Amino acid sequence: MAPKYLIETAGCQMNVHDSERMAGLLEQAGYEATEHAADADVLVINTCSVREHAEDKLYTRLGEIRVLEEETGARPLVAVTGCVAQQEGNALLKVTNGRVIDLVLGTQRVKMLPTLVNQALSSSFPTIEISPWDNVSFPLGVARRTDAAKAYVTIIEGCNDRCAFCVVPHTRGIERMRARQEILDDVRLAAESGHREIQLLGQIVNHYSAPDRANYDFADLLEDVNAIPGVERIRFASPHPRHTGEKLIAAIRGLDKVCKHIHLPVQSGSSAILKAMRRRHSREDYLRLVDKLREAIPNIAISTDMIVGFPGETREDFEETLSLTSAVRFSTMYSFKYSPRPNTTASMRLADDVAEDEKTVRIVELQALQRDIQASIHEAMIGSTFEVLVESVSRRRDTEMSGRTMGNVVVNMPGAGAGIGDLAHVKIERAGAYSVWGQITTGSASA
Ligand code: SF4
Repeated sequence: MAPKYLIETAGCQMNVHDSERMAGLLEQAGYEATEHAADADVLVINTCSVREHAEDKLYTRLGEIRVLEEETGARPLVAVTGCVAQQEGNALLKVTNGRVIDLVLGTQRVKMLPTLVNQALSSSFPTIEISPWDNVSFPLGVARRTDAAKAYVTIIEGCNDRCAFCVVPHTRGIERMRARQEILDDVRLAAESGHREIQLLGQIVNHYSAPDRANYDFADLLEDVNAIPGVERIRFASPHPRHTGEKLIAAIRGLDKVCKHIHLPVQSGSSAILKAMRRRHSREDYLRLVDKLREAIPNIAISTDMIVGFPGETREDFEETLSLTSAVRFSTMYSFKYSPRPNTTASMRLADDVAEDEKTVRIVELQALQRDIQASIHEAMIGSTFEVLVESVSRRRDTEMSGRTMGNVVVNMPGAGAGIGDLAHVKIERAGAYSVWGQITTGSASA
């Protein structure tokens, strides 16, 4: 009987795709997937350390595995991977007194998983491998993609920026670009196996430059991906405002498969806080960029990330975050309370001086404003017909299907007549703050 593996994933799309890669590597090594830790021979916990809360999840899970061992006398080989593994390394063993963890694998060593699992299986001591590795190539066709409609394709790993709050450069290393040819082959393979939407991933995707072709940047890559048969939609995460220039804007406007949606993290509406965060652009720069985008692509949807309670943030600074939110009218926003992260300049040099209660007051206020903006954007969609890529059975009702517009709005529709991967035209009839509802129609789409 084939040994079994289970991968539990926390965090961002990059982590989800790393888990797809690790699943493929283990299956290549003869393992089969299982959904239960009690049945698994290998349990991979792929961690996120972007916020304190994310890290705590790992320790809770390790506690549960210890209980599983005490109750059943057996447990899977436990491999901790992802950003907490990279950040903590050896220190993780101290947290669990050396029990429960058999392998600690860093973010740049994913390809070594099967080899190191074998090593850990035959060793009575935990195996640690978190050293950096420049090689970002990954064998084609190995990743076990978990989504039938869309495929993640990594184009860059790591980041050379040093935003004061961000743990990523410490956990994912310096910026390393994947070869253009390998990216295009990966996209072609994903499209041939039925994935209609391609999501290009990188910490700063629009800083891409091909190591295997001179003067070839992200806009050029979008053009080449746009030409691959079977690709219906292209999305990317995440660009940085600093690298969003005319050429990229023209590519988003001109390439028919590129979604008219850009996720453009701003993090704060105050130039003083943006400076303290080392974002290297001001509030005014960001608003000018938004104007440029909307002038070139009038129906473009802009979503963002926002942090409240960054060290030194005054009520006035926060008011600027509120006013920028009202001015831009983001289609969606991922908003968080600031939490100090290990090794970041903010945690090392800035006092976390905004009280937790005050952070809560601000996040509640910001989310309420954003909810109203989203509800009114969705309200305005009623009566219009949109092209929707059907992605899955709706989380609301299993008689309904769910998908997204080009603008990344979640659309729920009756299940009959909509299959995963279909591009359906849906006339919107009802709207809420987080999604809309409509009927499939044969009519033409207005967006
Ligand atoms: S650009 Fe800034 S926020 Fe984004 S990954 Fe790099 S350091 Fe982090």
